[in-house]
Formats: sequence, C-alpha cells, structure tokens
Amino acid sequence: MTTEYPHLFEPLDLGHTTLRNRIVMGSMHTGLEDRAKDFDRLAAYFAERARGGAGLIITGGFAPNVVGSFYPGSSKMSTQAESRRHRQLTAAVHREGGAIALQLLHAGRYSYSPLKVSASAIRSPITPFTPIALTERGVRRQIRAFARAAGLARAAGYDGVEIMGSEGYLLNQFLAPRTNRRTDGWGGSPENRRRMPVEVVRAVRAEVGPDFVIVYRLSMIDLVEDGQTWEEVVALATEIEAAGASIISTGIGWHEARVPTIVTSVPRGVFVDVTARLKQHVRIPVVASNRLTMPQLAEEVLASGAADLVSLARPFLADPQWPTKAREGRVDEINTCIACNQACLDHTFQRKTASCLVNPRAAHETVLRLEPTRTAKRVAVVGAGPAGLSAAVELAGRGHTVELFEEREEIGGQFLIAARIPGKEEFAETIRYYARQLELRGVTLHLGRRASVEDLVGADEVVLATGVEPRIPQIEGVDHPSVVTYADAVLGRVPVGHRVAVVGAGGIGVDVSEWLTTGSSPTLDPAAWRAEWGVVDPDLLASAPRGGLVEREVDAPARRVTILQRKETSIGAGLGKTTGWVHRAALRAKGVEQLTGVRYDRIDDAGLHVTLDGGTGEQRLVEADTIILCTGQESVDDLAGPLREAGVTVHVIGGADVAAELDAKRAIRQGTELAASI
Ligand code: NAP
Ligand code: SF4
Repeated sequence: MTTEYPHLFEPLDLGHTTLRNRIVMGSMHTGLEDRAKDFDRLAAYFAERARGGAGLIITGGFAPNVVGSFYPGSSKMSTQAESRRHRQLTAAVHREGGAIALQLLHAGRYSYSPLKVSASAIRSPITPFTPIALTERGVRRQIRAFARAAGLARAAGYDGVEIMGSEGYLLNQFLAPRTNRRTDGWGGSPENRRRMPVEVVRAVRAEVGPDFVIVYRLSMIDLVEDGQTWEEVVALATEIEAAGASIISTGIGWHEARVPTIVTSVPRGVFVDVTARLKQHVRIPVVASNRLTMPQLAEEVLASGAADLVSLARPFLADPQWPTKAREGRVDEINTCIACNQACLDHTFQRKTASCLVNPRAAHETVLRLEPTRTAKRVAVVGAGPAGLSAAVELAGRGHTVELFEEREEIGGQFLIAARIPGKEEFAETIRYYARQLELRGVTLHLGRRASVEDLVGADEVVLATGVEPRIPQIEGVDHPSVVTYADAVLGRVPVGHRVAVVGAGGIGVDVSEWLTTGSSPTLDPAAWRAEWGVVDPDLLASAPRGGLVEREVDAPARRVTILQRKETSIGAGLGKTTGWVHRAALRAKGVEQLTGVRYDRIDDAGLHVTLDGGTGEQRLVEADTIILCTGQESVDDLAGPLREAGVTVHVIGGADVAAELDAKRAIRQGTELAASI
C-alpha cells in the first residue's frame, strides 16, 4: 500500500531486529505495572497498541531495584519471578507483529521512599525526604542492578530496554551540578558526572550481548538551573553511543522544571530543532518526542532529517489505531490527544490507573468493552457536547440506530468554548474526530433543532446530554449591563472591556483570565512560546546558560484583570497537579490580580464592590468595565420529567446529570459506559 507518510512507515533495520516503522510508543506509567493481578489488563492494553501498528512499544518505568522504585511496592524488575510474569506482555505484543522494550527507570531522589538514594544528599523540590548519598560501592550496586534488570528483561522476551536518563531521574542527578556535589570519581568534572550513565550503558550491553536493543533516553535541555551545558549533553550522547546504545531517544526538561513541556499550550513539535542539532553528533538513530501529535508533523520531522524515529506517548492512549489510520490515509479519523493530562498523568500522580479523557477505554480495554449489540435499538441522544457525542458514536458503533439532536448549529458543546482559550486549540480536534465518527457510523444528526418530547417518544431509549447553563449568582446588581457570562464572552457574543473582573476561580475562571490577558495565542509561534517561558533558542544552545534557561520575555497583558473567589484557598488550587502550576504561573506572569476570601457586595457603574474578609472586613471596589461570571453551572434536564411521564426510558448523563465539577473526563466516560450498557 502506498501511504502519504513514506518516512513514517519505512522499516528500520537495527542489524539484529527490524522495526516495522518509525513510530515509537513512548513510555507511560499506567499504574497497571505495579500489581501482578493487573498484568492481563496490561497485556490487553499493549496488544491493542501493537495491533494498531506501533513500531516499538516502550513499557512504563520499571525500577532495577527496590531503592530505585517510586514508592514501596511499585513496579520493578529485579527477580526471576518478576521476569517470568512479563512473558505474557512480550508474547501479547509479538503476536500482533510489534516489538517491545522495557523501560528501566531508577527514580533516585524522585522516589517517595524515605530510603531513596541519589548522587548527593539534596532533596528534590517535588518529593518528600532527603535522599541518601550513594557510597562508591552503592554506585556500583546501582549499575549492576541496571545490568541485571536488562538481563531479566531479555529473558522475559523483550526486544530491548530503554534506560531512562531524562526528566530528572537518578542518571540526571549524577549528570548535573545541581544535584551532584560529589568530590570522588563520580562527581566534579563533566567526565566524572557522566561516568554513571555511561557505565550503566556499558554494563547493560555486556549483560545482554550485541543483538538486543538499548535505547538511551537522554535529556537534551534540563530546563533547571545548574543543569547540563549543551557541550556536556553532546559529549554524553557520543559516549553513550560508544558505550553500546542502539538508539538515543531525546527528552526535555526535568519533572521539577518550571517550564511546561507537554501540556496543551506547548506548541506542537517545539523541541524538534534541538533533536536535529543533537543528531548531527551521533551515528545511531535518534528519536524526536514531545507534542508530535499528528502524522503530518511526524512525517515532516523524519523527512527533514531532524530525527530517525518519532516517539508518541499520550497519542497512543487517545487512539491505539493512530499508525494504521495514518498509513491508510484516514487521519481525520484519529482521536487526537489534547494534551490535557487530566486522565493520564494526573491519575498517575494520584496513584489511580491512568486512562484518557478522550478515550476512556485506554488501559481499561478488558473492563470497558464495546462489542456489537445483539438487540439493536432506536436510541435518541439529545445534546452534542462531549457526553452526547461519545454516547451517540459508541452506540452507533455497537449497531444501534442513533439520532442525535443539537439545539445549536454546530456540535461540540462546552468544547467549542474551550477551543477558543489560548493554548487549548487542540480541543477542536476532538470535535473534528466526533464529526467524522458521526458520519462513519451513520448517526442521523439534527442540528439547530431543540428536541421536543414528540420528537423523542418514538425511540426505544433516550439519552439526555443537554448539558449546562452558566450559574447566575445572587449578587445585588448582577443584571447590570457590564455583567456577562463566560460563554457569551468567550464565544464573542458580547464585547469585553479593558478592565475586567472575573467572578469565580475554578478551571473556567482561570482559563478566561488567560484568554483575557493574552493578545494572540502563543501556541501558534514556537519562538514566542520559548520567549514567554525563558527557553533557549536552538540556534544559541552552545552559548546558553546551564539547563538552557534564559530571561523570560512576557508580553504585556492585553487587559487589566482581577480574578476573585469566596474561598480562602489560593486561586487554581483545585486544578490538575500537572497543569495547575502552568496556569498559576501564566496568571502571575500576566499580572492578574488575585483576590480570595471575598464577599460580593454589589455591582454598579463603578464596578464590583467586595468585602475582603481575612479578619479585616475591608471593603474594596474592583473597578471594571466588564464583569465575567465564571461561577459554575446549573444542569439543563427539563426533558427528563415529561419523557419519563410519557413512559420513555431516559438516561441523563454529563453536565445534565451533575453540573457540580462538570468535567469532560466524566462526561465522555459516562457516555461511553452508557453506550456499552444499552
Ligand atoms: P468550578 O470549578 O466549580 O468553579 C466555579 C467557581 O465559581 C468557583 O471558583 C466558586 O468559588 C465560584 N462559585 C460557585 N458558586 C458561586 C456562587 N453562587 N456565587 C459566587 N461564586 C460562586 O466550575 P468551572 O470553573 O465552571 O469549571 C467547571 C469544570 O470544568 C471544572 O470542574 C473542570 O473539571 C473543568 N475545567 C477544567 C479546567 C482545567 O483543568 N484547566 C479548565 C476549564 C474547565 P467560590 O465558591 O470560592 O467563590
Ligand atoms: Fe492526551 Fe488528555 Fe488523553 Fe492524557 S488524558 S492522553 S493528555 S487526551
């Protein structure tokens, strides 16, 4: 078959192993790795991605020993029994024609164990407990553990291992002066600091022999103060190659870095130029990664010679069929990862099984099954937001006859608003995906039509996904002309002034504040994004300070914004662990005034009058031309009662079901689970 993406689908001959294409599924910790009882699920998860065409799958991280684990009892590969358990995983992938490598990840000071170790006894800013500095014997023990784990991986049928030398884990902790203050042969000079990772690769190669893939995941820019210089990174890459690595996979940024590297607002492919520069210094294949979301960009990266392979991680959660759909020219059918982190990384940090906001079956393949129905029904779905769309598409996919009613002229619901927020443009991809799936699965779509009871009584079952409307709080003067809802403001239905008060500081209040202060979207321009976050220009790498951080250049805010909430907690405290800090940093950078613990007194021509509690009871006027209500939502479910009275079976899902904590993750999961059950 010819394909639009010839570089992406060119096999890669590594001498002893041939990868069927250039697409690597990057490592992600799903949580299923930690318990033997979850290995059936883990095998099904990997098999589905191998069936979808991944060239090389990298597992989630497995520690080479107990002290390298994230927390007591988390995934490791250090015993024969553990190795035997993995045969199920490797066999599942090989049956589908794929290849799989085990990631060896020693957490070092990022471990949550009080017994953790590192190069020096310096505590990380993101985990508790100060690590124990390894003795010389201790260092050698860690190297032997890596080698032994690689041998066990080989015995388990893996095609290779990936040695995790990026994102700030143990090997980085040896490499950077930030974390390595040793004065023995493992610290001090750059040569000594890189001795640990180089000896790990050498020991692993000696253990596994020549015909086994060793991927080394290498941090190109640490994005922390006192990280490595570019010169040191290049020297490391050449020594890693000489020590026996088969492939270098390029990573960016330590976990403790205060620069986002994978969230939605990071421009697609923004780090590819750095990979291209590193590739000039080595002969082995190099992998590009981070925000390579769609096939066209991945193909361009390979065609330009910037890299030999591309690594996609979260896109494989969103759509296991990504490679097959790309190869067959069905790109408009790809369910695109929107880089929200809400169901993947945020779950991992909460020690919940990872999944995907846009694909709730991810890592739940054996639990959430969508098999063809034996009793096809006529199902009417009302509302084409995320909940209604997921229900309609999956119901039709199972063989039901589905009619979908949407009051507006377009599908998307709350995602139409989200897609307008700077840095959230990816949400439009989800709407595109559903639009295509509605066509492919033969859903009859009625746009611009408010469904009535008469429209629906003929259906066997009705799914109400009628969503929400913005909550109007009881504040004196709330009907003043300066007051608008977030929906009207963001959708451009009303003009917004220069001085703005944002009432309510949940996810939407924070998003709206970013939208108000950002003139144009920095996501469209990698150079503007780098300037905003203080990331070195790839052309200036050689002269950049350690860690690649430079002075930030933040554009002046487009408006003067004050965001308020009644709670005493800090603004944005309830946002996701992996994204909340990015939003908080953006608000600070744009000079958004933040008032918490307020009581709203009244609204008049001058603006919003509040009482600042905090014991003082001080009154304050927030001068504003526009006051935007981001005060949560109320469910819209008016049809439920009349339909039930008419004897119709009704299911209420999404925001129409529960408006509090309205959330697309729950909406899409609820729609999918309901579809699986009808
Ligand atoms: P929300 O998170 O429930 O926040 C509503 C805000 O309004 C709160 O700050 C609340 O703070 C305030 N509020 C509630 N009732 C009020 C009243 N009667 N009078 C005055 N203030 C009131 O809702 P949201 O911001 O609309 O977000 C909805 C959902 O969308 C979120 O739960 C999230 O799942 C999703 N979302 C997430 C993100 C993200 O993660 N970045 C972004 C957008 C949306 P006080 O009660 O303290 O005043
Ligand atoms: Fe991507 Fe969000 Fe799914 Fe994670 S949860 S894979 S970031 S779409």
